[in-house]
Amino acid sequence: MNTPSLLILAGDGIGQEVMAEVKRIIDWFGEKRDITFDVSEDPVGGAAYDAHGTPLHDDTMAKAQEVDAVLLGAVGGPKYDDLDFSVKPERGLLRLRKEMDLFANLRPAQCFDALADFSSLKKDVVAGLDIMIVRELTSGSYFGEPRGIFEEDGQRVGINTQRYTEAEIDRVARSAFELARRRNNKVCSMDKANVMESGILWREVVTAVHQADYADVKLSHMYADNGAMQLVRDPKQFDVILTDNLFGDILSDCAAMLTGSLGMLPSASLGAPMENGHPKAMYEPVHGSAPDIMGQGKANPCACILSLAMALRYSFDQGEEADRLERAVESVLANGVRTGDLMQADGGTPVSTSEMGDAILEQLETSL
Ligand code: NAD
Repeated sequence: MNTPSLLILAGDGIGQEVMAEVKRIIDWFGEKRDITFDVSEDPVGGAAYDAHGTPLHDDTMAKAQEVDAVLLGAVGGPKYDDLDFSVKPERGLLRLRKEMDLFANLRPAQCFDALADFSSLKKDVVAGLDIMIVRELTSGSYFGEPRGIFEEDGQRVGINTQRYTEAEIDRVARSAFELARRRNNKVCSMDKANVMESGILWREVVTAVHQADYADVKLSHMYADNGAMQLVRDPKQFDVILTDNLFGDILSDCAAMLTGSLGMLPSASLGAPMENGHPKAMYEPVHGSAPDIMGQGKANPCACILSLAMALRYSFDQGEEADRLERAVESVLANGVRTGDLMQADGGTPVSTSEMGDAILEQLETSL
């Protein structure tokens, strides 16, 4: 079997710092678990602009299309704020998502017991929470035509169009059902079928895909506004939540904050299956390049490390090793090791980015 390939795009700011810890963990898996990757690395975002005058070099784009998975740090920073829109660091990220056609965005909301106090909700509502939001990422209101600001009867009108084809709904529904089968086998699809035709179609297609190919998965439907209420009332009732681009944008941020810190949140964006049966995939922390703390060793590497765990699970068939890595992070937190973003006001001395990496590696060792 070929060695699986991984393209690392560390990017800018703390992207570089957190990725340095991820690379140590990849090395550990090679040495101690005999799990090796054909790793290549390229700049992206501002770093690519500095090197090549573009936020994503064509060669990097071509590599991203070839590899089994892309792991990205973060892009952007004040140094690049005045660049022309077409070469801003974020354009590199958007090009990757668009050209790889990554239509399913996976955002887990998992609350580690040791961090339950960080949530704005009561501890018993969030402790042990483990849900996954699957958001459609490449269509819907953010892309539908017509769009723009037009002149009509002497005043301006802002227009965006919520538009979904059956095929677009079908493929993201399949991603959610496949995922549910690897988790607790439940999907709740959220739409506004009560007031939007696109929502009626969404519900019909999700139901049809379910009946045709995923009848073993438990499917329910909920209006997205009720979904928002349920997420803060009783989030543990959910396993996988499937929703469109616009609702998913809002609901996934809401769910993420149930769990506390931005420094803990991984994500995956998946596309169509490749020849090997796995989807095209890019994994990345939810956070940005955090210019306010860059270069100070303060960044929490957990979100990026947990993104690697998602890659192990969804792109490399290494579910047990993904569990091992997630358990190592959980144990480190349970032992009270904290980067600054995870400290309460009187919480003692925070560890640095690399000390957090050390602690996770130690836990991985003890897991053997
Ligand atoms: P940000 O996520 O970079 O930071 C928000 C706040 O959270 C900051 O106070 C930061 O210090 C803190 N934070 C974020 N990640 C952390 C971590 N791992 N450990 C500890 N603290 C952490 O968002 P922002 O400040 O709005 O944006 C900064 C730059 O990042 C901008 O250029 C923005 O465009 C870019 N950005 C990139 C991405 C991406 O690459 N996917 C996402 C969001 C923002």
